[in-house]
Amino acid sequence: KALFDANLVKKDFPILQERINGRPLIWLDNAATTQKPRQVIDRISYFYQHENSNIHRAAHELAARATDAYEAAREKVRAFLNAGSTNEIVFVRGATEAINLVAKSWGDQHLSAGDEIIVSNLEHHANIVPWQQLAARKGLKLRVIPVDDDGQILLDEYAKLLNPKTKLVTFTQVSNALGTVTPAKKIIELAHQAGAKTLLDGAQSVSHLRVDLQALDADFFVFSGHKVFGPTGIGVLYGKEDLLNETQPWQGGGNMIKDVTFEHTQFHQAPSRFEAGTGNIADAVGLGAAIDYVNRLGIDNINQYEHYLLLYATNLLKDVPGLRLVGTAPDKASVLSFTLKGFTNDEVGQALNKEGIAVRTGHHCAQPILRRFGLESTVRPSLAFYNTCEDIDTLVESLYKLKRNK
Ligand code: PMP
Repeated sequence: KALFDANLVKKDFPILQERINGRPLIWLDNAATTQKPRQVIDRISYFYQHENSNIHRAAHELAARATDAYEAAREKVRAFLNAGSTNEIVFVRGATEAINLVAKSWGDQHLSAGDEIIVSNLEHHANIVPWQQLAARKGLKLRVIPVDDDGQILLDEYAKLLNPKTKLVTFTQVSNALGTVTPAKKIIELAHQAGAKTLLDGAQSVSHLRVDLQALDADFFVFSGHKVFGPTGIGVLYGKEDLLNETQPWQGGGNMIKDVTFEHTQFHQAPSRFEAGTGNIADAVGLGAAIDYVNRLGIDNINQYEHYLLLYATNLLKDVPGLRLVGTAPDKASVLSFTLKGFTNDEVGQALNKEGIAVRTGHHCAQPILRRFGLESTVRPSLAFYNTCEDIDTLVESLYKLKRNK
């Protein structure tokens, strides 16, 4: 039974009508960023034509409209993640900024020399570097959960790393380089048993699978709007309400204060205490429209459809002679990382571009996990719900063509 018609869905995305080198664009770079449906583009345009104002402070009609739209978007994010309260939803620039916020504010305040932070081998640089910087500032130790040859977290090895010095376990829900889905609930449960807090990086998960923060019980969760069919420059930090309110803000300024004198400043409660200055109001509203769009298709339908597409693609790619798939976990989302014998990854990427196919080649900002597999880079097609079996057929045919023409 059809969950939805991906060819009809495609029509909602104006950029997917582009032609590249005379061919219809096939966008398989969804792990880097996703394309935007007309509904999101129109919503942002509507905001600037009918609602634009700064929020929260003026007495006039447009301030009320802008504030309502912004706060409605916050509620959409809350419902999308099944968070308990909108007070737990902080708008930031993206996943990177959210992680840096936690490292700079919560980390600087709560961690001290000798404490330990656990990350996984799968992490994006955005979930490694801020912790390394914090570790250097504070004299902390960074420990790494290893993965097996399929790219799956080794839970037994993880359990051995946990100890009374562990203060934070921070890891991705889906690997951007391999596509591995990690056992997030179990990892969080074990961390909590050891008395550690947890940060879950949802940059690659929110567009592919249902995220239920109350069930997962993560202390912090981050994602970027642009990877879930929303605009760039807007993202979300989720934090449990008590945790946010006991954490000192990292940036000071307007909007985030209750009272200021030259001697002393009182901060607002969350989320305002972490939203200093004028934020990205229009794009928060655009993110709300993107979530509406995803909800209309249904995240469970999306998950099921993409699972089918991923299997379809995996089976065809496996048969291409000389193709090495990296990341072979049974539980994966969206990502197909590979190398092709006899060709550099750049050659493959260029050849696909000639056919109108957009993939990423390189280290995907996740060098440690590629090096785990002895690689410096891969070719990485990554799927979204607007991709079709025909897109995959064209990808695979283009690889055979490249090999024939060698
Ligand atoms: N974490 C993961 C797993 C990612 O894939 C990315 C983006 N590639 C990020 C974090 C950082 O996201 P952003 O660049 O949007 O801040």
